[in-house]
Amino acid sequence: MGRVALVTGGTRGIGEACCKALKKAGYKVAASYAGNDDAANASRKETGIPVFKWDVGDYQACEQGVIAVENEVGPVEVLVNNAGISRDAMLQKMSSEQWEQVMRTDLDSVFNMRARVINGMRERGFGRIVNISSINGQQGMLGLSNYCAAKAGMIGFTRAVALEGARKGITANAIAPGYVATELLSGVSEKVMEHIVGQIPVGRLGEADEVARCVVFLAADESAWITGSTLTINGGQLMD
Ligand code: NDP
Repeated sequence: MGRVALVTGGTRGIGEACCKALKKAGYKVAASYAGNDDAANASRKETGIPVFKWDVGDYQACEQGVIAVENEVGPVEVLVNNAGISRDAMLQKMSSEQWEQVMRTDLDSVFNMRARVINGMRERGFGRIVNISSINGQQGMLGLSNYCAAKAGMIGFTRAVALEGARKGITANAIAPGYVATELLSGVSEKVMEHIVGQIPVGRLGEADEVARCVVFLAADESAWITGSTLTINGGQLMD
């Protein structure tokens, strides 16, 4: 089959797991990243998947980045908007920089990535867009007002894109993972982590591979009738 899939933030954590799983499923995969060259080079070496550096918060950079991917790998048929960051602080202490950094990386990015990609998908009459949201976009979490707002925004965006693409063979779905063992959680203290795990009925954090298999499922040609949905995967922590 060999459809082309682009995973933003595909060099570490959940994104890298998505790249590996999509490659295993027969896709031609490209991974983007922000600036951690060591991680990107290590990932490229291990997976054989080409990596492309640009900031998904920058509109022009996204356009140029997608052109580079399309020239090297081919027209993007599956887009996984996975790149994301967190900058936690209670609202009364949150700086406007913390707010803006999260909004541009986690929410503006899904708009920035659409330009060339959505036009190509509409022309070809096929597309799969999978947006990696979060359990914290479905429920509130203290210290994460910026992140919760961005991830909830992503779900609304997904639904609108699903409607717009419905007659053009384009599906758009969100995945809302609970807490997954990646570097994103490295700043969380042991005590808070114990508390989090205590709230997960399955009794453990998720694995990146467990999210990746959902991405492969939603990306499939056969998943054409699944659109506008939010796939909740969180060990039972929130039953939505
Ligand atoms: P990681 O921190 O492990 O990896 C983040 C990836 O995103 C890296 O490849 C990083 O590139 C890239 N990235 C970050 N900022 C940008 C940017 N501005 N432009 C381009 N690429 C960027 O994150 P996770 O794997 O944990 O998270 C992946 C997604 O899943 C995120 O959207 C996150 O919010 C979401 N999520 C994570 C959960 C978790 O518990 N881990 C739970 C729910 C959702 P580089 O290496 O260059 O920095």
